[in-house]
Amino acid sequence: MPRPISATISLSSLSHNLHTVVQQLGSAADRSAPSIWAVIKADAYGHGIANAVQAFHQAQGLAMLDLDEAVRCRELGWDKPILLLEGFFEPRDIAVLDQYRLTTAVHCQEQLDMLLGASVANPIDAFIKLNTGMNRLGFSVEEYAAAYRQAQAAQERGILGSLGKMTHFARADDDPVVTRRQLDIFTQATQGLPGHASVCNSAATLTSGLWADIPVSDGRKQWLRPGICLYGASPFADKTAAQLGLLPAMTLSAQLISVRGIAGGAAVGYGHSFVSPGPMRVGIVACGYADGYPRHAGTGTPISVDGVRTQVLGRVSMDMLAVDLTPVPQARVGTPVVLWGQGGPSVDEVAQAAGTIGYELLCAVAPRVPKIIA
Ligand SMILES: *Cc1c(COP(=O)(O)O)cnc(C)c1O
Repeated sequence: MPRPISATISLSSLSHNLHTVVQQLGSAADRSAPSIWAVIKADAYGHGIANAVQAFHQAQGLAMLDLDEAVRCRELGWDKPILLLEGFFEPRDIAVLDQYRLTTAVHCQEQLDMLLGASVANPIDAFIKLNTGMNRLGFSVEEYAAAYRQAQAAQERGILGSLGKMTHFARADDDPVVTRRQLDIFTQATQGLPGHASVCNSAATLTSGLWADIPVSDGRKQWLRPGICLYGASPFADKTAAQLGLLPAMTLSAQLISVRGIAGGAAVGYGHSFVSPGPMRVGIVACGYADGYPRHAGTGTPISVDGVRTQVLGRVSMDMLAVDLTPVPQARVGTPVVLWGQGGPSVDEVAQAAGTIGYELLCAVAPRVPKIIA
């Protein structure tokens, strides 16, 4: 028998989450509905590219980073637009964009130079990125108009096809004032430049009234870029995924492989960081940090055993962790454990206990954990 651990990916939850996001936009909208790039970078936040392609078939486009993943989407039959969020990295990538009809972000002069020196069979669609305060990628406000003019020159020469404008928010999850300022900078710097606009990540997409203020003109589209919410995790620290109507798309589950009673004062695991306050039963779960479970999740991290919520005890080992069986007297070797997802704590709760965010945990599930499609 294989080691009893798996990550179950629910295609219906993925589709449900996309639908939920779209519906929310619809009800908030009094203008024509925006289009969605479903963000599927990092192997669809750990859920598998093929699963995402299937479950997000109603999205207008897919967005990711890796050229290989983009090509894979085409091979899987995705026919609609694909956006490369960081664009391309060297001149020979442009042939791949051309061959597979990939839309590229253009965030720096080096990329523009590569494009202006390229020859393509068909014009490549592009979004020219503006830095509005994230200070990660994008042309500065001062550079932007000139960069856009160069992109238009590439368009006239048949190298670029449709052009759009994009930016990225740094604090859409926690500071509406900063976000509004970034949006104002975007509006001003892109004024009068034709093209689609793409601005919002999950947090901005789910902030009511925000996307509707993104400037569009002459029938151009807004393209929102939700990622994490599609996988059933929350982009906000103060709002749960359940409150947002989202369902967990990944359930990490395992089993107990050992159960023992320990005396009061007995210590558990590496470093003996947990010492039992009295006699208790302790279970050992077939999941450790080499499976992607966070090593920084200490005593008290929520976990579910046989459907009962309990807690992790002591330090997480490479291949195992210990749980408190006090509330689960019926637990035996083979009893099911949910580390996060359906029937267990949310990935966000586990992340919070480990001092990180749900994004990191979902992306970090190790290849040795088999994925089951449900
Ligand atoms: C990852 C990413 C997104 C999606 O962000 P979420 O917070 O997961 O919704 C959107 N745009 C860009 C440029 C990204 O890198």
